[in-house]
Amino acid sequence: MLKSNLSRFPIAVFFLFSLLVVKPLHAEEVVVYSARIEQLIKPMFDAFTKETGIKVKYVTDNEGALLARLEAEGKNTPADMLITADAGNLWAAAQAGLLQPVKSAVLENNIPAHLRDPGNEWFGLSIRARTLIYNTKKVKPEELSTYEDLADAKWNKRLCLRTSKKVYNQSLVAMMIAEHGEAETEKIVKGWVANLAVDPLSDDTRALEFVAAGKCDVTLVNTYYFGRLMKKDPNLPLAIFWPNQNTNGVHVNVSGAGVTRHARHEQAAVKLLEFLSSDKAQNLFADVNMEYPVNPKIAADPFVAAWGGFKQNPINLVKAGELQTTAVKLMDRAGYQ
Ligand code: FE
Repeated sequence: MLKSNLSRFPIAVFFLFSLLVVKPLHAEEVVVYSARIEQLIKPMFDAFTKETGIKVKYVTDNEGALLARLEAEGKNTPADMLITADAGNLWAAAQAGLLQPVKSAVLENNIPAHLRDPGNEWFGLSIRARTLIYNTKKVKPEELSTYEDLADAKWNKRLCLRTSKKVYNQSLVAMMIAEHGEAETEKIVKGWVANLAVDPLSDDTRALEFVAAGKCDVTLVNTYYFGRLMKKDPNLPLAIFWPNQNTNGVHVNVSGAGVTRHARHEQAAVKLLEFLSSDKAQNLFADVNMEYPVNPKIAADPFVAAWGGFKQNPINLVKAGELQTTAVKLMDRAGYQ
């Protein structure tokens, strides 16, 4: 007995050695390129590292720069994951061959089908709703109904819109084309342009400020811009309206992520993606930017939830990408600058 135990001794020592020495040398990590700023991503990465021991390194920049960098680095990229806002951007990354499909029952279970790529190359992780905001002194909510109705002559010189150059509006119009077809959507967008109170504005916040100042009565923005403004000044005469509740629902988009085509830490990246869709990270991902969790089991932040529930448009967001060029051309023809 004693002899055979002794003969195992070197194996036991080697095993211990490998635990103490070899494992730390191969400590797992995952590298993320993120168009979301550090303060929006670091809390989730810290939680992930705490739970799994996998370190997360990250680079933040705007999505154009990150996509160009991924493309230039090709096979040599250190990045395992791309995080960015808007399905239009995620689709463009997939289209450029920068992402790879991930087959995961966890992701399929946590993320509704319309908020992820049917080809599994990108996954929505938080929902941003693009909805109507009106001046409470100038508009009664009963006057509002749908996105389409904003093309009606009754809104003449009462509408403010952000520029069509932003992907948010390109995605919105692309999704409208998916729903109504090109001819009908062009009519609607032409109607919007005819109803503009001022030329298209540079960003969503500016559009809200114009509505608050009474320069126009209603606009079309992502709700978190409304949230930011109202946190700063709760007395602004602004309120949310959820359009299309009797038809196809509010237009939603996502912030999301995908695993890069040339990921070196593919398994760790998939683990991180699954973690971001889980109940442990969903509030961290959504709440910091006043967005909505994609995981339907998770409730929104109370400040956001107070804006009320809404039915969302169920069309798959891949259309925001597929029809993006068509949308840009249509907005150009309609005179929407
Ligand atoms: Fe934004």
